[in-house]
Formats: sequence, C-alpha cells, structure tokens
Amino acid sequence: MKQSFEFATYEVVAPHVAKIMQNRPQARNAQNNRMTYDLNACFDLAAQDEDIKVVLLGGEGPHFSSGHDLRGFGPLTDPLVGTWQPSKEGGVHSRYSFEQEVFLGMCRRWRDIPKPTIAMVQGKCIAGGLMLAWVCDIIIASEDATFVDPVVAMGVCGVEFFNHPYELGIRKAKELLFTADVWDANEAHRLGMVNHVVPRDQLEAFTLAMAERIANKPSFALKMTKQAVNTAQNNMGQRETMDTTIALHHMCHAHNSEMEDRAVRRAGLPEKFREPKPAAAAE
Ligand code: ZN
Repeated sequence: MKQSFEFATYEVVAPHVAKIMQNRPQARNAQNNRMTYDLNACFDLAAQDEDIKVVLLGGEGPHFSSGHDLRGFGPLTDPLVGTWQPSKEGGVHSRYSFEQEVFLGMCRRWRDIPKPTIAMVQGKCIAGGLMLAWVCDIIIASEDATFVDPVVAMGVCGVEFFNHPYELGIRKAKELLFTADVWDANEAHRLGMVNHVVPRDQLEAFTLAMAERIANKPSFALKMTKQAVNTAQNNMGQRETMDTTIALHHMCHAHNSEMEDRAVRRAGLPEKFREPKPAAAAE
C-alpha cells in the first residue's frame, strides 16, 4: 500500500524493499521544509519496520532534484529531528541553527539509517539534490542524469552536507565546485560517485533487482556492514570535515548578507530568482 505525504510517497515494492519518492515534479522536486519532513517521515517508516531491509530513494518526473527551493523553504512546523532548535533571534544564530536541523542534521540522520539505501537518479541533480543522493549507500544513475553544484557562484563554499571530497577525491571535488561544470552520469561513474549507469527506462527495474539481491542477505549482517563502511568514512574525518565546513559555509552566508542583504549572492542565482527577495532567504 502506498502512503502519500504532501511531497513524498512511501511504498513497499517488493519483499523487504521500500521505495521513497520525492513527489513534487512540477517544481523539479525542489526541496522545501515540507518535502524534507515528508521524506524524513518516509525514512522513519522504513527504519522502524523490521520487515524492511533495503530502501530506495527516487524522484517523480523527469528530474531527480533541482536542489533546495530557491523560492523559500516555507514554515517549519514539524517536530524537530535533532537538538538544534532553530533560533528566533535572527542573524547567523537563526540561519546556522536552521541549517543544522534541516540540512546537516537531517542528512546525517538519513545517512546513518542502519539499512542499505539506494538512490535512483535521473535527469538533473543540482546542488541540494546532491545531498539526497549522497546520503544513500549506493547510487544508480540513468544515462540522462547530470550533476552540478553551482553554489560557489552564489557565494558559498558547497552544499551543507559537504561530502564532495569523499565522493570525488580532492582534486575533482575542487573542480566541481570551482567551475560549476555539469558532469554527466558517465563522468560521475568514472569517479566512483555513481555505482552503475543504466538506460532511463531500466533505472527502476535495475535498482529494484539490486535491492532484491541485497534483501536476500541477513538483516543484522547488512546493518553491521553498513556501519563498518560508514565507520571507515568517519575515520577519514567526514564528520569533522562537515562540522568545519558548515561553519565556513555560514561565514559565506554572513558575508553575503552583509554585502547584499541576502544569504546567497544574487548574481549566482538563475535570473528568475534574483528579485524580489524571498521571505525565507537561508539559501
Ligand atoms: Zn546554507
């Protein structure tokens, strides 16, 4: 049975396999607060159902994700998942605590769910969309998938879940960020960021077949294996890197706010988002 939230759906699609779909195709699955907490509710359903062993994450429509919603994030009405109560004081205090809860905290939470997760990526995967793909353990991309992180032009040093060096290696991480070039699925595959590239019409079937092979394995061993590999990444300094980078990221937001009264530089935004200033301008 499919469970529908406003901007996400949850469905058990095979024995022991759940599928979570971003469901805001009219906005290229742009992620606002509503979608974030809808996705979190879906991840919780998967995590808390002992019968579920593997979780798929995809996006409805032609594109996986256009990233964070530049029109604004909307109200934050759901119970928080972490301890960073977004401050009402304003300034960096509000922006930093908001991003700790909604971006970094949420992504860490999903990354650490003790069950294998597989992203199915088609079409565009832009900036904040990378965070959604990267929290998954495995990424399957269709041949039309493209990846880009154009946030340096917006005056910030990367998205809030700063996994670039661990996904791409040091030099290619710098290139992706410095240039904002659009990389196709084959380049992402060559760099090891993507596990497999498949034709668009085979994306879901290929991913589901892999999920079923994984779901045949014993649940506890899968959990311990995920924890073991994630621990290797932790020991490469991922957590400390992100803790430092979120601070640098907010130094950028603060600079932009001083210079332009907005957390990101207008010149780096697509034309339609430059004016007027959105009510919620965290990014
Ligand atoms: Zn930000």
